[in-house]
Amino acid sequence: MIDCKEYKSATFVFMNRVYFDNAATTPIDKNVLDEMLPFLTEHFGNPSSIHHFGRKPKAAVEKARKQIANFLNASAGEIFFTSGGTESNNMVLRCAVRDLGVQRIITSPIEHDCVLNASKQLQKEGIELDLLNVDSKGNLNLQQLETLLENNSKKTLVSLMHANNEIGTITDIHTISQLCIKHKAFFHTDTVQSLAYFPFDVQQIKVDFLSGSAHKLHGPKGVGFVYINNETPISPLLFGGSQERNMRAGTENVACIVGFGKAIELAQSSMRETETHIRNLKSRMVSKLVQLIPDIQFNGDIDNGFYKILSVSLPPNPKSEMMLMNIDIAGIAASAGSACSSGTEKGSHVLEAINAPIDRKVIRFSFSKYNSIEEVDYVVNKLEELVGIQASNTTSKQDSLSQ
Ligand code: PLP
Repeated sequence: MIDCKEYKSATFVFMNRVYFDNAATTPIDKNVLDEMLPFLTEHFGNPSSIHHFGRKPKAAVEKARKQIANFLNASAGEIFFTSGGTESNNMVLRCAVRDLGVQRIITSPIEHDCVLNASKQLQKEGIELDLLNVDSKGNLNLQQLETLLENNSKKTLVSLMHANNEIGTITDIHTISQLCIKHKAFFHTDTVQSLAYFPFDVQQIKVDFLSGSAHKLHGPKGVGFVYINNETPISPLLFGGSQERNMRAGTENVACIVGFGKAIELAQSSMRETETHIRNLKSRMVSKLVQLIPDIQFNGDIDNGFYKILSVSLPPNPKSEMMLMNIDIAGIAASAGSACSSGTEKGSHVLEAINAPIDRKVIRFSFSKYNSIEEVDYVVNKLEELVGIQASNTTSKQDSLSQ
């Protein structure tokens, strides 16, 4: 198990707060930070410079590219750095339309906004847009995908995420890839949430494009990459210098690229350990919540979903309304969501798509390697207290964080 105390004392102090919002972003790993710092100080040069100062940064960017390519079993020439998942996803959708003759996009109503809104913008510009149906757990209707692909008179791009960022549902990208090959459609997958939490081999699962972002795996914010399969070349979205072999203009964010390379290497080398640790946290949280809060529900596929994400649906109760603020006051960071679309509050498009009940407050807890069982116990006990329900179980409660 990763020693979170050591982490806290070595780098940042979380001020006795519990950070359970790791799907929003993750704390940077100290080893990643150490790797980055020299590229903000002595190795500050521009990687495009041909003099001495450019050499180390240039070599460091290429090393990071290889670290990412190595993880995906891709060639380094297929990896292009960007400013993050949002840019990568926009680039793929827009460039596939412009350069590959794509006339139709098939995606789902539970994608991240950067895919959904980019697709809707392309629809306004004349591209056909089809959204797949999802069931109450967020599983896609793959039969519908096959039917849509069979009626394939238009060149099609299928863009479907691997792990859903709100409810953690995992998409069967292997089957989708095979359907796309069979029906000659291009396939893009947004792996921003799941990258390096699962193995991914592009030689085993053929994708044309894949997007990733460093800050979800203990790397820095503001850096991402797009994998572009050699067989489906596209042209740049941004025009400018010749960086990234003419694919992405703009001086490279060297320190963050270096951090991304290190973060993926670390995640790859400890993937099993991390998964086991986080699965233990999640299963303890589920069993304790079920035990302590009657009528609690979970969104997504609790058994087969992404182990890092737990979307909790609180029982309808006026006390649940202020829950996010109250848990914040109690030192707990998590994300809110609701299916409501009353006009006063913008509901979650994901919860709406899965028909989550509108009278229940949803809280997304998301874990990382730095979280502990003590934190889970603290959060569950606080939730029970705040929901205001005394279960028959009289297990003694302790504020474990204050000990
Ligand atoms: N895709 C998914 C599934 C995400 O969860 C996010 C961020 O939350 C993004 C894309 C956007 O990535 P970035 O924050 O790097 O722009």
